[in-house]
Amino acid sequence: MRGRELRGELDAFLAETEKDLVAFRRDLHMHPELAFAEYRTTQRIAERLSAVGLVPSVLPRGTGLICDVGSGDGPTIALRADIDALPLQDEKDTSYRSTVPGACHACGHDVHTTILLGTSLFLAQQAAAGLLPGRVRLIFQPAEELPGGALEVMAHGGISGVDRIFGLHCDPRVDVGQIGLKAGPITSACDRLLIRVSGPGGHTARPHLTADLVFALAKILTELPAALSRRVDPRSSLSLVWGRVEAGSAANAIPDDGVAEGTVRCLDENAWHAAPDLIKALLESVAGAYGVEATMEYTRGVPPVVNDEVSVEMLAEAAERALGSTSVVPTQQSLGGEDFAWYLESIPGAFARLGTRSPENGVTYDIHQGTFDVDESAIPTGVRFMATTALTALWEGAPILPITSALA
Ligand SMILES: [Zn+2]
Ligand SMILES: [Zn+2]
Repeated sequence: MRGRELRGELDAFLAETEKDLVAFRRDLHMHPELAFAEYRTTQRIAERLSAVGLVPSVLPRGTGLICDVGSGDGPTIALRADIDALPLQDEKDTSYRSTVPGACHACGHDVHTTILLGTSLFLAQQAAAGLLPGRVRLIFQPAEELPGGALEVMAHGGISGVDRIFGLHCDPRVDVGQIGLKAGPITSACDRLLIRVSGPGGHTARPHLTADLVFALAKILTELPAALSRRVDPRSSLSLVWGRVEAGSAANAIPDDGVAEGTVRCLDENAWHAAPDLIKALLESVAGAYGVEATMEYTRGVPPVVNDEVSVEMLAEAAERALGSTSVVPTQQSLGGEDFAWYLESIPGAFARLGTRSPENGVTYDIHQGTFDVDESAIPTGVRFMATTALTALWEGAPILPITSALA
C-alpha cells in the first residue's frame, strides 16, 4: 500500500521536475571535470540542495559533498553517486557535447549525479511532510575513476553511522527501464605487480659461477602463475598475467638485473586480500632456488564490489515497487573495477546496474568511449528506483551486521 502511494507521489514529483533534471544533466555533460577537480559540479549540486533547505557539507578538498536528509529515529541509509568525468575526447554530435577538450562524461557519472540530485529533492519533500522514518545520507563522491574518492569520503566520516549503502551505474547493455541485479561479487579487483630481480651477472660460458638471472626470471614468469593456480581456489579466478619483461643487452652476457610487470585480476575478495603475501612468498622461493634476489612492488587497485544479499533483496523489492514486476534482470560479474567496493568492506550494501540502452535504436554505446551516451529516460527511472530503494530500506529497518558476516 505504501508502495502504491509512493509511486503516485513520484509520478507527481517527476511530472514537475523531469525536464529540469535532464537540463541539469546536460549542463554537467557540457562541463565535465576530472577526478578531484569537480569544483563546478560540486557547487552546482550544493546550490540545488541548499535551495530546498538541505545543508550540504563539501569535502575539505572542495570537490564532492555529503548531505543528510531527515532526522527520524530509524536507520541511516546512504545513497552514493560518483561525479567525475574521464580524460578523453567527446566524439558525439549533440547539442550537449563536452565543451572541455579532452574531458568527457563517458562513464555516465553525470547521469548518476543527476539521479541522486532528483532523489535528494524528492526525499527532502518526504522529510518535510514527516514521511521519512530515518535518515538518508547523500554521498556525491569525487574521483571514482582515479580511483580513490571513496576512501576520501570515508576518511571524512562519510559512512560513519550508516547502516546500509546503495549505488548504481549506467549499463548500456541493459534496456532503459530495467535494473540489473546480482548478489555476491559484481565487479572485479585489478592490481599491478612489478618485480625486480638482481644478481652478480657474468659470462654465459659460466652460469654455475654466478646466478643465471635470465633463466631465473623466466622461471619466475612461468612458475608464479602456475603456482597460484594450485595455491588459490580456482573459483576466485585470480590471474596473474605479465605485460612487460626486460633483461640483458648482449647474447653472451648474463645481466645483473631484470624487471617484469603485470596485472593481478581477481573475482573473489578473500583471495584478493591474500594475493600480495602469497605472491611475495612464491617469488622469494623461486628466486632463492636460482640464487637471485627478487623484490616486488604491489599496487592495489580496488577490491571487487561484493553485494550483500539482504541489500540486493531490498533493491529488487524497490525496483518492483517503482518500475514494475518485470523490471529486474540478472546481471553478470564484470571484470571492471569500481571503488564503491571500499564502502562494502565496512558496511553492508549493494550496487545495481541501471539500463541506459534505448530499445528503439538498439545501439549499445559502450562506457569509456567518446561516443557514450544514454537514453535520458533513464534519469526519471533512476530517481524512482533510488528514492524507492531508500524508503524500502528505511521501512524494513537496517540491522547492523558485523563486518565479517556482511562480507561472508
Ligand atoms: Zn568508469
Ligand atoms: Zn563509472
